Amino acid sequence: MPPGPALAAALRATTLEVARATGRYDAVVVGAGAAGSMAALLLTEAGLRVLVLDAGMVRSPIRSFSRRLSRGLTRRLLGTAALAALDRRRQWIQTQCYAHPFAPDAFVDDLDCPYVTPADRPFVWLRVRGLGGRLHIPAHGRQYYRLGPDDLAPADGLSPPWPLQSGELDPWYALAEHRLGLAGRRDNVPWLPDSELSIVLEPTPIEAALQRSISARWAGARPLLGRFAVPPDFLEAAAQTGRLLVRRGAIAREIEVDGSGRVRGVVWIDQQSGTEQRACAPLVFLCASALESTRLLLLSRSPRSPAGLGATSGALGRYLMDHIRLVANGKGPPLPPEPPPEQGRCLYLPRFDARDLSMPGQSRGFGVQVSEVFADAGASDFSAASYGEMLPRPENSVMLDPKLRDAWGIPVLRIDCRYSPTELLRAREQSTALRELADAVGVTLTEIAEAPDPPGIANHECGTARMGDDPAKSVLDPYNECWDARGLYVTDGACFPSQGSQNPTLTILALTARACDHAFRSARG
Ligand SMILES: Cc1cc2nc3c(=O)[nH]c(=O)nc-3n(C[C@H](O)[C@H](O)[C@H](O)COP(=O)(O)OP(=O)(O)OC[C@H]3O[C@@H](n4cnc5c(N)ncnc54)[C@H](O)[C@@H]3O)c2cc1C
Repeated sequence: MPPGPALAAALRATTLEVARATGRYDAVVVGAGAAGSMAALLLTEAGLRVLVLDAGMVRSPIRSFSRRLSRGLTRRLLGTAALAALDRRRQWIQTQCYAHPFAPDAFVDDLDCPYVTPADRPFVWLRVRGLGGRLHIPAHGRQYYRLGPDDLAPADGLSPPWPLQSGELDPWYALAEHRLGLAGRRDNVPWLPDSELSIVLEPTPIEAALQRSISARWAGARPLLGRFAVPPDFLEAAAQTGRLLVRRGAIAREIEVDGSGRVRGVVWIDQQSGTEQRACAPLVFLCASALESTRLLLLSRSPRSPAGLGATSGALGRYLMDHIRLVANGKGPPLPPEPPPEQGRCLYLPRFDARDLSMPGQSRGFGVQVSEVFADAGASDFSAASYGEMLPRPENSVMLDPKLRDAWGIPVLRIDCRYSPTELLRAREQSTALRELADAVGVTLTEIAEAPDPPGIANHECGTARMGDDPAKSVLDPYNECWDARGLYVTDGACFPSQGSQNPTLTILALTARACDHAFRSARG
């Protein structure tokens, strides 16, 4: 998405001199994805002058044009397979994302941005660097769901409760939904809270038929219309306040803390000049995406925190999660011709593991996003993706690799993550559920996953710097402020103590909004 006029002006105004000038801004936000752009918007609206540092590369228009041209020529002369093979040479991880072909340059270069995993435990770390982050990838899923009371305080005791009072997140969810302009319906499902909607949807005839087939087969299935929104342009709105500065190609490498344990600023590398810079402010929002933010905490060592900010708890780098993802595609009966649905439109089957009952019997389970669309006069296209909850376990972890560094000389992550036997069992249940679903709606599957994709590929990675009530067991306090660095807030998925089976971004946005309010109130005393 090209920058709007106010954001373009803010980008022009943020020269290197301005970005490093002490006193020009009150807060620094690291990362301009979902979390960072929401933080920038709310902090500027509250009257703060904000500098956003984003690692997204700055490419000259000539270089971008020649790259588009050469990709276009390769596709035309040698075909899509040759283009994909070419992309895999530098992006062998990123090309595993289904959305890569829609925005190849938004994803990182795996040669420049490496990481390490044990040979038998792959983790597919999908990373986008650029304004808007992953939210602005053209094929983004656009799904937004709240976590419910059972997700935030799991009754099975297998993960700690979130450090929130019952209903405490509701106003912040409502704020995020309002800012997104969410479309959907009020569904009154006990274990999936309703959202505040800007657009109330009615099912199309195809969706209504699909809902009927699913409900007729299972008493406990709740086939809802998916709740979705077009990508928000929070940064443009923030820039319109006149209080936003944005520096692209600004790769944060360390958070600085003073002797009293208060955050002092951010050390960053300017991609264009290759020089190390400092941005000083009493308030820092770290929003670089879950694993990048944890990497930065691990890199931020001081005499008070020799193993990184938040490491004294033993929780930093631990409890990594990603959804257990399985997909199925197939061909259904012919449908009446309909224009292609709006991107993000689908049915959502929350807790489809409980489809035979009226309520989920166990506290962890899976949901399914499903769509069936007109393909041609002979058949319809069916696709379904199931997302299962992964438990936060200490052995699923990240740490700094002692040797390997990225293209900017910054130590990289060593990621060690695997599914437990229970999660592999759940994956088998997910595969069975997808088969049954296809059967119920008269679809012949052409592709069905028997085993889960490696962790990471669901793109819902979270944990590794969790929030909690107890500084001995968590990295962040209940308002996302780092116990070891007051004034430093981490509000991306790193903070999640557990993940539910819902897509994470709405919760990231709600927590960011709540943390902004807390930071603002704390600053005013
Ligand atoms: C194809 C696809 C579909 C998805 N569909 C859904 C969906 O339907 N629903 C849902 O809830 N989620 C979905 N997700 C996941 C969702 O996009 C993420 O949960 C969300 O974007 C996370 O927001 P974030 O701000 O934490 O990180 P990101 O969006 O990844 O943004 C991180 C930002 O930090 C910047 N950054 C990184 N490192 C540094 C550094 N060292 N210094 C400075 N800046 C840095 C990057 O440039 C980037 O702008 C999808 C993801 C993908 C890729």
